[in-house]
Amino acid sequence: MDYPGNLFVVAAPSGAGKSSLVKALQELDSGVHPSVSHTTRAPRGQEKHGREYFFVSPQEFDQMIAHDAFVEWAHVHGQRYGTSKKAIEERIAGGNDVILEIDWQGALQIRRTFANAVLIFILPPSWEELRSRLQRRGEDSPEVIELRLQNAAEEMAQAKEFDFVIINELFERALFDLKAIVHAQRLKFSSQRRARASTFQALGL
Ligand code: GDP
Ligand code: ADP
Ligand code: 5GP
Repeated sequence: MDYPGNLFVVAAPSGAGKSSLVKALQELDSGVHPSVSHTTRAPRGQEKHGREYFFVSPQEFDQMIAHDAFVEWAHVHGQRYGTSKKAIEERIAGGNDVILEIDWQGALQIRRTFANAVLIFILPPSWEELRSRLQRRGEDSPEVIELRLQNAAEEMAQAKEFDFVIINELFERALFDLKAIVHAQRLKFSSQRRARASTFQALGL
């Protein structure tokens, strides 16, 4: 499927810093719109329905699958997560950039539908740091943290399928890398011609 906006897909093992990086990017660049996923997991402390996620029951999730409402969905850490068509299609069709924070299974599904999607994988600098970030975040129980660490090895093995890899050691450095990827994508010929149509026209291009 072709479309005028750019689609960025960010995946990482839980605790690598994906949400923090994407949030910081959005604060600097209002042209990158988040896709709000649906999930069957319960909201954490500060999370709000419709902001971080649409929190739905397993029955509601089943209904959305039956109505073909998802571009992709996957089982992650014992819950289901999915990107609705509504969350992205209108925006990219209108020429806006959209960023998805989803797991690797979802990322590979997105690439099958949107061949031009840019897949970015965030790695932690070490296992020790990954564990300590999950503990410091303080949002998950020790059992959930262990499950997420167990799943991390399998998730990180998928990084080689992605277009770009960022190692989130120093946060500001990783944010710079993420901005560079977004920026480079916007400098592609097709994106530039769209964004600067009058200049191209004046130059006879
Ligand atoms: P985090 O890992 O600490 O960011 O925890 P989250 O609960 O925010 O995310 C849980 C998992 O679900 C992560 O692997 C996400 O990348 C994944 N995820 C979130 N949204 C989506 C989505 O729309 N589709 C898919 N396939 N995965 C998603
Ligand atoms: P994810 O969305 O990948 O699960 P988060 O963005 O929630 O990860 O980050 C996990 C924890 O690590 C958070 O408490 C966050 O503040 C912290 N963190 C993120 N990036 C860094 C970094 N470069 N150095 C130190 N701590 C970080
Ligand atoms: P958390 O429960 O910590 O918010 O998210 C756990 C994992 O689920 C993260 O890796 C996150 O990227 C992934 N995730 C969140 N939303 C989606 C989604 O819509 N689809 C897929 N496939 N994964 C998602």
